[in-house]
Amino acid sequence: MKNIETAPFWETKTLEELTPSEWEALCDGCGLCCLHRIQDEDDDAIYLTRVACHCYDIEGRVCSDYANRHERVEGCMKLTLERVGEFDWLPETCAYRLRHHGKPIPSWHPLITNNPVSVHPYGMHALDPVLENDELDLEDYIVDEV
Ligand code: SF4
Ligand code: SF4
Repeated sequence: MKNIETAPFWETKTLEELTPSEWEALCDGCGLCCLHRIQDEDDDAIYLTRVACHCYDIEGRVCSDYANRHERVEGCMKLTLERVGEFDWLPETCAYRLRHHGKPIPSWHPLITNNPVSVHPYGMHALDPVLENDELDLEDYIVDEV
């Protein structure tokens, strides 16, 4: 059993208890929340696509304008305590979603591996993403949920 005083914050703290820097560090950088989703008008089912937000730098594997992302892209919403509970479209692997449900973060999370690229096989790039553009029909790019 781990000593609660030496255990890392991602194991012992609730989302409510995180400092702003711990909150930021909890993001694994998977990029899966930067992929478009489409909702079926008939049954409200949500489908994940491999089409990335136009602001995403696919090669660099990061948002190209993280500091201004909410102003740059309509629909890019800040993840808050309340929203983690509301955003049921977040991937099952999202560290915020996992901690919201009291679950541990995955063993490949960069906080555990101390390696920022350990997320890559589990993130957006495992889906062969394409950048959004006016020509794309999102329905052609639906993938199985990850
Ligand atoms: S899905 Fe969650 S862990 Fe992945 S990039 Fe988005 S906020 Fe971070
Ligand atoms: S603006 Fe950046 S963080 Fe927001 S969805 Fe687009 S790529 Fe992702």
